[in-house]
Amino acid sequence: MVILGSGQDGAVPQLGAERSVADPRTASSLAVVPDAGPVVLFDASPDVRIQWLTVAPRPIGAVFLTHGHMGHYAGLVQFGKEAAATRELPVHATRRMLTYLDRNEPWRSLLFERFLADVPLDPGVPVSAGGGLTVSATVVPHRSEFTDTVGFSITGPERSLLYLPDVDRWDGWDAAATIARHDIAIIDGTFWSDAEPPGRSLADVPHPTILDSMRHFADLVDDVTIVFTHINHSNPAGAAGSAEATEVRRRGFRVAEDGMRFDLGGRA
Ligand SMILES: [Zn+2]
Ligand SMILES: [Zn+2]
Repeated sequence: MVILGSGQDGAVPQLGAERSVADPRTASSLAVVPDAGPVVLFDASPDVRIQWLTVAPRPIGAVFLTHGHMGHYAGLVQFGKEAAATRELPVHATRRMLTYLDRNEPWRSLLFERFLADVPLDPGVPVSAGGGLTVSATVVPHRSEFTDTVGFSITGPERSLLYLPDVDRWDGWDAAATIARHDIAIIDGTFWSDAEPPGRSLADVPHPTILDSMRHFADLVDDVTIVFTHINHSNPAGAAGSAEATEVRRRGFRVAEDGMRFDLGGRA
């Protein structure tokens, strides 16, 4: 498994941002890369074309989508007529996410012309993703203007991984128990502290801060490798060698970087 992108939806640097505190990153996405055969993509980010070079020349055989915010699905345009022109590429997503795609252009045409094929995903019901992998979705609280949001539990032959790039809060749902069921958890680390984001309020773009998350999950780090992803350009923990990045490591957590790999065992 490889982290293709570890940035927030707008990636780092972000268009229009005068300055980036974090090191450059593409938008959040993972790929599971078996020894042979196609790659399974988790989130189709706007940077998917460049991200694919990490796994090229392997084709992408399936896509799982967490939700309908631009950093997580807008890359689907790259599978249409003008680019990859895939044939019925399976797109696994919740029924609400698929309904959104089916009702709005240009996604509607990608489905209608069969570059993509929608595969409804029922939360809590595991599906096989090839290469000895099973995937199951968990609905999580997150701004739901168009779609709901899920995290993915990806189980390989030897290890399991949670991919949860976007969540509004850890309270009110079984976040700690969900993380504790996995060997590796790649979770929302958008902001370091509530002094971010610059010029906006955390009430408009709610995310747990890394400081908050490290307090919440301090007891889990002996058993689970917890990695913060979806790093905003303003996040100092996303700058290698910063005091904040050092503090994350000291507390037993990690900050995701593009190209970081984790072994799920077998061929994954
Ligand atoms: Zn996002
Ligand atoms: Zn989002």
